[in-house]
Amino acid sequence: MLITAAALLSLNIYSANTTREMVFRSKDASMQSKVQLVVSSMSGLEHLNPDNVTQVITLLGDLGADRVVVTDQEGRALYDSLTNDNATGRIILLSEIFEALTGNDVFYSFYRTGALESRACMPVVSRDRTIGAIYLMEYDTGQGAIIAALETNLIRISLVLGAVVLLFSLIFALAFSRRVRLILQSIQLLREGEYSHKIKIRGQDEVSVLAEEFNKLTDRLRVSEESRRQFVSDASHELKTPLASIKLLSDSVLQNQMDMDTVYEFVGDIGNEADRLTRIAQKLLELNRLDDAPSDDLIVMEAKPVVEKAVRLLTPMAELRNIRLTADLELGCTVVTREDDIYQIAFNLVENGIKYNIDGGRLDVTLRREGDDVVLIVEDTGIGIPEEARERIFERFYRVDKARSRQAGGSGLGLSIVHDLVERNYGIVSAEPRAEGGSRFTVAFPYFGLEDEE
Ligand code: ADP
Repeated sequence: MLITAAALLSLNIYSANTTREMVFRSKDASMQSKVQLVVSSMSGLEHLNPDNVTQVITLLGDLGADRVVVTDQEGRALYDSLTNDNATGRIILLSEIFEALTGNDVFYSFYRTGALESRACMPVVSRDRTIGAIYLMEYDTGQGAIIAALETNLIRISLVLGAVVLLFSLIFALAFSRRVRLILQSIQLLREGEYSHKIKIRGQDEVSVLAEEFNKLTDRLRVSEESRRQFVSDASHELKTPLASIKLLSDSVLQNQMDMDTVYEFVGDIGNEADRLTRIAQKLLELNRLDDAPSDDLIVMEAKPVVEKAVRLLTPMAELRNIRLTADLELGCTVVTREDDIYQIAFNLVENGIKYNIDGGRLDVTLRREGDDVVLIVEDTGIGIPEEARERIFERFYRVDKARSRQAGGSGLGLSIVHDLVERNYGIVSAEPRAEGGSRFTVAFPYFGLEDEE
């Protein structure tokens, strides 16, 4: 708006100036032709003297000029229409005459206090010799009035435009400050925990973009606040169950007369519940570590030895249930990761493959390169995962069969840790059923060849 007004204003000034310029130019042209007429009338003369000059001027008649001056080559007046004969012989102190006597033509007009004043001066040359100068001056109040009217109009238009610009600036400033106030109020509400609050500002300008970004930010905050609450409530619930069992078991031991075998059995159960609490606490700490881990401790490493270590550690657990655990691990599967991440992923998947397997079942672990990926596959012949649960098994505390998970010593956090670890290593994890029964977990990481590093 301001720019448009300024443009209009400058257009006005420009057009006023051009009109004035045109008036000046046409005036210059008419003065030029008049002075040329006088000069050519005198160019036949050998010398200029008051008599022959007066004669020529009288012959030419009314030149329409307010002052006509003719001087000799030294600038002495031979004729001056203003002072008649009294001026003869006097040096005329006009810069235009001195200019003309040095061989230059002078034509110009200027506007002063309501009148347009035009001056023209030319040398009179005879036989290549400057023998004098002709000076014409015109004082035009008619043209001056046109210019004066033009200037008054210009001032009026400028004033109106200025007022319009001021008015629009005021409206704009008020609207702007109202919108900024709205954002400020929303920030205060957000600070007080109102995550559902949204700013309603329409438009395409920076303030609207700011409001839109603010709304996106509150959305994110709301989602993370909700998931934080959900996590705290789930975690407390998970911790409450073993604690309640411990309380119940210890009360039973204290209140009932029991034989030593039952007491041992109850105390053993208390120990198991305490172990479960410890496992949950460990996994919670692990999740916390994931959130805090800096991203600058990434290294390029071979996946094989790490997966091998996890398989080796879990082999006794598989043997206990007579599960045949095989590992087909290729060398050259290099990935960019944190040292412990691949180990944690492999450990959790293999442990689940044992926990949710059938006694005497099979568990096959494969590590190989597939195109640009390094793929880790853990397949079991276990109980499988129902289709409706397949999407949810990576959620925190989700279990398909709570009783079985508890009995197997699960916390409902293993796969969610796997999911977070895989994601932060730019990989993908998925679960699918096997045709012959059981499940297949596949993790794909981007392959990082050592030649890439070079
Ligand atoms: P948990 O500590 O209970 O094992 P996880 O997060 O590791 O928790 O797994 C979530 C749930 O997914 C488990 O409770 C179980 O029901 C199911 N699940 C995980 N792995 C397997 C598997 N290999 N076979 C069948 N079900 C599985």
